[in-house]
Amino acid sequence: MEYQIYNDNGKTVLKINLLQQKICTYDCIFCSVGRGLKSDEIYNFNDTNDIIKELENIINTNSIDLVFINSKGEALLHSGIKEIILFIKSKNLKVKLLSNGYILYKYKEIANLCDEVIGEIKAINEADFQKLQRPIENYTIENLIKNMTEFKKQYSGKFILNITVLNSVNNDEKSLNEIMSAINEIKPDKIDIEKEDDIRFIKKYGIYENEFNVICKKLCS
Ligand code: SF4
Repeated sequence: MEYQIYNDNGKTVLKINLLQQKICTYDCIFCSVGRGLKSDEIYNFNDTNDIIKELENIINTNSIDLVFINSKGEALLHSGIKEIILFIKSKNLKVKLLSNGYILYKYKEIANLCDEVIGEIKAINEADFQKLQRPIENYTIENLIKNMTEFKKQYSGKFILNITVLNSVNNDEKSLNEIMSAINEIKPDKIDIEKEDDIRFIKKYGIYENEFNVICKKLCS
């Protein structure tokens, strides 16, 4: 298990990657992790006990406030994620989970155990979603928004919607209006807006700071 400990606004966060091999429901062309297995079925990694032992050691030797499950892929597909979350909760620690959002509703019993959950919007029109995020067959942007909306309706924790603004993908007026309508539907507790900052993709998808600020204002209005 890869991990990192850092301070976030006075809180000590333990960020963990549960996936020794990438598994995700998408195969985004701008994925920083690279290629991997595309699936939405639970995958048996056979390392749950080792992860829990390592976590126990880290938690016992550091003063951690929050464990952030931010994996290289879709962590909900790790066969031991429920056991791992329950172990962290048994240590009286808060858990935050990053997901791309598509299967949050399908695996809501697991995601509901977390104190905070992040879902994502990148491409917003169907053609770009298929071309750039290359999801599992029959996945649609309409269902991504529906799945996050249904998840949020029944979730009692804090749901954060992460939006990445990408040049020539979703920074035009029509796309921004569609993102705003998705926000109105999902009703997240918090919105986080990012721009592409991976050096490999910045030339194609990056936007200037002043445009980014205008977009942030519009999406948060
Ligand atoms: S959703 Fe995230 S992890 Fe999955 S392929 Fe896209 S960028 Fe990579």
